[in-house]
Amino acid sequence: MAIAALTSAGYSLCVDQNCYWNTHKFEHPPGTVHFDTVKDSRLWGPLRLYTKSSVLWWLPDPTPTLPTLDDPHYMLTDDKRLPPRTWPRRDLDGNLGPDGPWLNIYPVRIVKPILFTEALILLCCRDHNHVNNFEDYWRGLLGAMNEENPDPDFYLRKRVRPELQKCWNVAKVGNDLQINAAVKQLREELIASLPATPYYYGFRTKERAIRQGSRWL
Ligand SMILES: [Zn+2]
Repeated sequence: MAIAALTSAGYSLCVDQNCYWNTHKFEHPPGTVHFDTVKDSRLWGPLRLYTKSSVLWWLPDPTPTLPTLDDPHYMLTDDKRLPPRTWPRRDLDGNLGPDGPWLNIYPVRIVKPILFTEALILLCCRDHNHVNNFEDYWRGLLGAMNEENPDPDFYLRKRVRPELQKCWNVAKVGNDLQINAAVKQLREELIASLPATPYYYGFRTKERAIRQGSRWL
């Protein structure tokens, strides 16, 4: 459905198996499909689509209707409850953290910030110490979801679900070693409910990684 919507809006689905984005390893997971939308896409990367089952396997499917204000899982990007960026917030890599609402662009459905944070914790656990190395990517995003605003009403002053809270508390203030230990422990607690990672090294499938001669397999 998303592919059809983007295609009808003028975006061109990449079908080139030899495309740069299909043949190189990156620090983030490859999309199931991508659209080469940006002129210098090597700087920003293409527009990628992921299957929900590969990143949000535990969430219910969104309905075709717009999310209501009390929707427990989803919201729109122009939802005024999303806090504006109040000061430059950068993670250790210098990336700016999330901000919103995005009022001047077409609103799209997103996962609510608390659930997005929970998703990143679960993805860290799923890919912990995996050769695909995507745990680093999830941890970078998790750092960007940290809240430091002293305003007690700050929307992102969040509590995640109880079984994840201890790990989130460490992620907010801990160093790399402490976060690593917390993720490892949580992974062991959740192991029965965690799916296997669908990502092999930088490629979508193990077969593709073998074809590309990945030395990590
Ligand atoms: Zn491409």
